[in-house]
Amino acid sequence: MARTPLMAGNWKMNLDYLEGIHLVQQLDLDLRDHNFDWSSADVVVIPPFTSIRSVQTVVEGDEMKIAYGAQDVSVHDNGAYTGEVSAPMLKKLGCSYIVVGHSERREYHNESDELVGKKAQVALAAGMTPIICCGEGLDVRKAGEHVAHVVAQIKGAFAGISAEDAVKTVVAYEPIWAIGTGEVATPEDAQEVCEAIRATLAELYSAEAADQIRVLYGGSVKSSNVADIMAKPDVDGALVGGASLKAEEFSKIARFA
Ligand code: PEP
Repeated sequence: MARTPLMAGNWKMNLDYLEGIHLVQQLDLDLRDHNFDWSSADVVVIPPFTSIRSVQTVVEGDEMKIAYGAQDVSVHDNGAYTGEVSAPMLKKLGCSYIVVGHSERREYHNESDELVGKKAQVALAAGMTPIICCGEGLDVRKAGEHVAHVVAQIKGAFAGISAEDAVKTVVAYEPIWAIGTGEVATPEDAQEVCEAIRATLAELYSAEAADQIRVLYGGSVKSSNVADIMAKPDVDGALVGGASLKAEEFSKIARFA
């Protein structure tokens, strides 16, 4: 089945709300200037929480087709959870996507596969698409255990997700050694793991379900390498960090085709 490519820009903890507005406006302008075919890829920006309301205002005000989301979510809907932001709150802000289980959250906040799965479930329950991140560190890659490691992460994160909901998710394979390092996995490396992720989803649900789920690659994606990565059959898009902070560069990535 044909899966629409998804190009998601994870801003991480960068850009204040004014800079965020500027970036979204520049991105939209650049895509329009290049007569971007909006059916060729879904374009998503993922700002820090503090910029989401501003992004919503410009996206809705200028009737942009850029979608947006959040970098994390609480597993609770409301209550005494200081510092947390809930899925219903993000849905109310017009978010369509929630990144869950990014390696930086797994590393700095000790997020487990089980917690990542719960976050995906609350995003789904609120009507948003979780982008479920997975990926191995350099030690695991060097030991040749990367496929087994990622398969275990997928099985853990999807444990509580029904077949009906699984098809509404997105998975992002991000080898940690390639994030923000300039070190890109080869297209073959990306394909190997993305294919294994799809096979795991087929085993957990069905081949039809696995065929519908978009699997992204992330890790130092740039306009110069995106086309080769996207040429691989099991890679359906990119989760882009650093290169999504420059409008022209991220526009080029979205226009990879
Ligand atoms: C990321 O933050 O998810 C990422 C892939 O970062 P970068 O593109 O900068 O490697």
